[in-house]
Amino acid sequence: MAIDFRGCYILYNFWHSILSFMKTKIIKAIIFGPQGSGKGTQGNLLSERLNIPIIGAGDVFRAEIAKKTKLGNLVNQYVQQGLLAPDEVVNAIIARQLKKIKLDKGFIFDGYPRNVDQAIYLDKLITINLAIQLKINDEEVIERLQYRSQCSKCKTIYHDKEAPPVKPGQCSVCGGKLTKRADDRPEIIAQRLKAYHFMTEPLAAYYRQKGVLLVINANQSIPYVFEDVIKKMSKLGFIV
Ligand code: ZN
Repeated sequence: MAIDFRGCYILYNFWHSILSFMKTKIIKAIIFGPQGSGKGTQGNLLSERLNIPIIGAGDVFRAEIAKKTKLGNLVNQYVQQGLLAPDEVVNAIIARQLKKIKLDKGFIFDGYPRNVDQAIYLDKLITINLAIQLKINDEEVIERLQYRSQCSKCKTIYHDKEAPPVKPGQCSVCGGKLTKRADDRPEIIAQRLKAYHFMTEPLAAYYRQKGVLLVINANQSIPYVFEDVIKKMSKLGFIV
């Protein structure tokens, strides 16, 4: 039996649609981990590699504050006092942001949800199908952040041991003065880690129960962590 051109064409279309369906498993991800886990870096790398937007909660809040919206002003009051804004305010801002952006290509959330209550709220808006947890030892975080300095001009980050500047105390990019970030002091780091374990880490159990948790060993260096993320995401069928 001979297959005519029309038959070939139909067959071709059939396989083509199946393949493109496989390619478009939409990533609806969140990424979480403590300060110093490389969460921002990995989120950005993923966003570039997969060509999907990263929604940084911090950026969203800062934009809201800059626009002086009602919610922005409210958040600012908490930020000024060094406090976290309450869930209702944070959720409202995120809900509004979600309406503004096209989500059909997929997305990664960074910095939200910060606790299980926020995760429950997010689930009502959109179903998350991948929760990437960057797991790192407290000692490693302390080690990383203690030796970290930042250029006061161009904001480049240095690490005294792993990525030192050419001249001590001076930015290799722009010559600016290197300073310690106020929140990189040991006692502040310890406080933040405690808050992370108490508040944010329970997200792991929450998303594990939903069957979407992906745990990554973030004690490794940036390229290894990223390789691990990509490998595991491929196995799960998010990357064809
Ligand atoms: Zn600089």
